[in-house]
Amino acid sequence: MRQKIVAGNWKMNNTLNEGLKLTTEIVNMVADEVRGDVKVILAPPFVLMPQVKNLIKNVDKIYLSAQNCNENASGAFTGEISASMISSIGATHVIIGHSERREYFNENNAQLAKKVDLALVNNLTPIFCCGESLEIRESGNYETFICNQIKESLFHLSAEAFSKVVIAYEPIWAIGTGKTASSQQAQEVHAALRKYVAGQYGDAIAENLSILYGGSCKPDNAKELFACPDVDGGLIGGASLKSRDFTDIVKSF
Ligand code: PEP
Repeated sequence: MRQKIVAGNWKMNNTLNEGLKLTTEIVNMVADEVRGDVKVILAPPFVLMPQVKNLIKNVDKIYLSAQNCNENASGAFTGEISASMISSIGATHVIIGHSERREYFNENNAQLAKKVDLALVNNLTPIFCCGESLEIRESGNYETFICNQIKESLFHLSAEAFSKVVIAYEPIWAIGTGKTASSQQAQEVHAALRKYVAGQYGDAIAENLSILYGGSCKPDNAKELFACPDVDGGLIGGASLKSRDFTDIVKSF
């Protein structure tokens, strides 16, 4: 059985008080309402992480993620945060290669491969994001494009290391736009990704790989998306900022 995961990416939203209120609400709702074996992950901005950790430390279903890490282990990189720092405050996951990092901070596949390595060395699970722009989707070459992102950033890993990775398929045209990929579109790409991974690492590792969908996932479409055989959960942006919506998505399996 693959691990089901719903991760909330808060992006650059929430002050300290707002973040603590949201976390407290999610902790209470998850405790009262969520019974299945789903892993819930919160990815607040770096400065809120220690306090969010404090609120979730005794909750076995909820884990802490960073939204990014630097590709260097340490050193003179003013303003940056390393994987070892993230790990040292009790986080378990880190989002790597979000399309906003690729687009606004020019992150490329080779650089992301280094981030993945440092995450794994520091016992963090990388939530590795991939996905195509609208232009690539319309060109028809989207599967090749996405598989190449995976190959260039992940296929240098040993089978043991790769088996610790989570992948999030996030079509850029669906992120924050209100345009969700249909469940058929999501399933098609997730199945293609799993097949591609099987070609490199074998069926057992591909079968165990959690592949999340991200892009305008909301309480009213999560059920249909999560019902797809190769969709193992979601990476949620906008809807993760509202405790009721986020918890309803968590309950959509
Ligand atoms: C995201 O940025 O990872 C995301 C999926 O955003 P949204 O849910 O707002 O489309």
